[in-house]
Formats: sequence, C-alpha cells, structure tokens
Amino acid sequence: MQAPRIASFQPPRRTLMGPGPSDVPQRILDAMARPTIGHLDPAFSDMMEQTKSLLRYAFQTENKLTFPVSGPGSVGMETCFVNLVEPGDQVIVCINGVFGGRMLENVKRSGGVPVVVEDAWGRAVDAAKVAAAFAANPDAKLLTFVHAETSTGAQSDAAAISAIARGHGALSIMDCVTSLGGTPVLIDAWGIDAAYSGSQKCLSCTPGLSPVTFSERAIAKVKARATPVQSWFMDLNLVLGYWSGEGKRTYHHTAPINPLYGLHEALVMLAEEGIENAWARHRAEHEALKAGLEKLGLAFIVPEAERLPQLNSVTIPAGVDDAAARARLLNEFNLEIGAGLGALAGKIWRIGLMGASARRENVEYCLKALAEVIGK
Ligand SMILES: *Cc1c(COP(=O)(O)O)cnc(C)c1O
Repeated sequence: MQAPRIASFQPPRRTLMGPGPSDVPQRILDAMARPTIGHLDPAFSDMMEQTKSLLRYAFQTENKLTFPVSGPGSVGMETCFVNLVEPGDQVIVCINGVFGGRMLENVKRSGGVPVVVEDAWGRAVDAAKVAAAFAANPDAKLLTFVHAETSTGAQSDAAAISAIARGHGALSIMDCVTSLGGTPVLIDAWGIDAAYSGSQKCLSCTPGLSPVTFSERAIAKVKARATPVQSWFMDLNLVLGYWSGEGKRTYHHTAPINPLYGLHEALVMLAEEGIENAWARHRAEHEALKAGLEKLGLAFIVPEAERLPQLNSVTIPAGVDDAAARARLLNEFNLEIGAGLGALAGKIWRIGLMGASARRENVEYCLKALAEVIGK
C-alpha cells in the first residue's frame, strides 16, 4: 500500500468566541510542548499533587478527592453518575437545556429512577419546583442540576438548589463545566457533593480533561455501594489509588501527560490572576459585550438576573441567514461564535466570553464583525 502524501496540519488562527473551546494562551501551549516523562515518575507525581491543590482553589473546596479525569467534560459527567447512582435510586433531575437532558440519560443508563423537574430553555432552574419534587418524592437519594447551561446561557442558583437536597438528606451532582473559573463556584459553601467541569471553557486549556471533586459524603456512598460500579475505567475505588495513592501510586491507566502540563499551567495562571479577579473580568467583559450587542439591536434570550456572563445568547435578527452569517464570520474574520442547539437551532447565536477569550480586544472585534455581517 502506498503511503498517503499528506503534509503536517497547520490550523488557521481563529478567535474563539463560541461555547468552548476558548482561546488557549501561548503560555499554556508552550507548557504542553515540554518533555514527556513517565506517568509514575516522582516528578510527575509532584505535578499531579500541585494540580490537585490548584483545582481545590478553583473549586473553592477542601475536598481531598479533587482531580482531573482523563477525558472531556462528558467523561467527568459519567464518572459522577456511574459512581453515585445505584440501580433503583430515585434521582431528581433538573432540565432547562441540552446538558440537563444528558444528565437524565446518564441516570437512566446507570439504572436510576429519574424524577424530572423541567424549566423552560433560557430560564434558570426554579428552586420552588425542586422543593416540590422532594416533597413528593421524600426517598430521593440524589439531586442533579446544571449550574451554567451552555445551550442557553442561563445560570441557576446553586446554593438554593443544593440546600434543598441537603435538607432532605440527598446528595447533589452539579455540572459546572462552563462556570468553573468564570463565575463563582463555591463547592464547600454551597454543600455540593459531586461536581464536574471541563478544561476548555473558562480555564482556557485545550479540551480533553475534566476536573472533578467529591465530598466525604459522596465517597461514603460510593464505598457503601451494594453493586460494583459498572464502568471499570471510571470506578472511583480504582482511580483513587492512581490519583491519591499518597506515595504508593499504582498503575490504573496512562494519564495524558502533556495535556496535564497544560491544565497545570492554566491553573497556575488562574491562581496568579486571583479567582475573584477572573470572575470580575468575565463580568466586566460581559457588560461591555452586552452594551454593544444591544446597540446592534440584538436581544438576549435570558432574563437579566439569570444571565451567565460567559455565554451570551441573542436572537438572530429577522432576515439574517444563520449559517451564512456564521460562515462569513469564520471565513472573513476568523471568528467562531456558537450556533443554537436543539429547539433553538437557527434562532439564536451563542457568544462565548470564556477564559482568555474574555478580553476587551475580543469583545470589540466581535462587535465590529457582527455589525458588518448583519449590515448595521
Ligand atoms: C461543554 C459542556 C459539557 C461537555 O463537555 P465536553 O468537554 O464537550 O465533553 C457538559 N456540560 C456543559 C454545561 C458544557 O458546557
């Protein structure tokens, strides 16, 4: 067989203002280009320990079991569900967009019995409905919700929602893929038992790693399971020996070594900036973008009080062709913004201000490009 004559891949230079990935700073890419070492090398173990403590800072938690799962946000999600849902467990699942729907799918596949609490796409989860669901289902073992719904740009009141679960002795699983590093995620203050995030959104690293954190109550539930976790790769009982071996780490799988250098660098950058400053920066750039979008006549779909600063969903103006406009942004301006998902496909654009993409230069560039494309 003849070898295909294909040259090295040279990606175009884009400005990433969609729902993730966000712009990756050169400093993070440089960190990933450092020499690969063995994943059981003591130097690598030291880096893993540092990553864990940096992640505790990002999650604002003292949870010992805090580490990056080797896989995208979706693998972090499955890790939470396959470990914490036991066959027959009743689980209250909040759905107000695409990612809540994925949680429902995970509950079913893990053998759980879902009780769905639905809210309109574009709205936050209604805490009163969650309270009513617990009142009607007092035996529910778990509550699951998405803190920052990337499909719509709505942010829910995680403190209020998880307090209801606590009051009923249930554990909570929170998706904070898009919120971590962009808006406050306070795992301990809110009493969240399990949370998963992603490397490529407000942490501005490359995709493929999923930071997770588990409370002592969550670990106790996993240890007390009557049935083994059905996934070998994601079984926390086994992963624990790799990420928390404390001097006697044992082989579980080969960690993605260089991507982990990247995540370490991204987290060092977050610590240098200060997480409160990162939250304030996302908020300030959102305000600047919002002012410009409103000047262009683009209306937000989420009510102001429920809006997520790092994901701005606006209605596509009448007479503007969605696909053609986004193609022009990409081809003429090297600018990526997000399309609508599900029922919102063709109706909205999702403009991300995540991580390094949340900077004034990007906001101004995006507003200029949008004005041209919609003819303002
Ligand atoms: C992006 C995203 C995910 C999935 O993350 P992947 O890295 O794409 O697997 C899950 N939940 C939310 C809210 C997201 O925005």
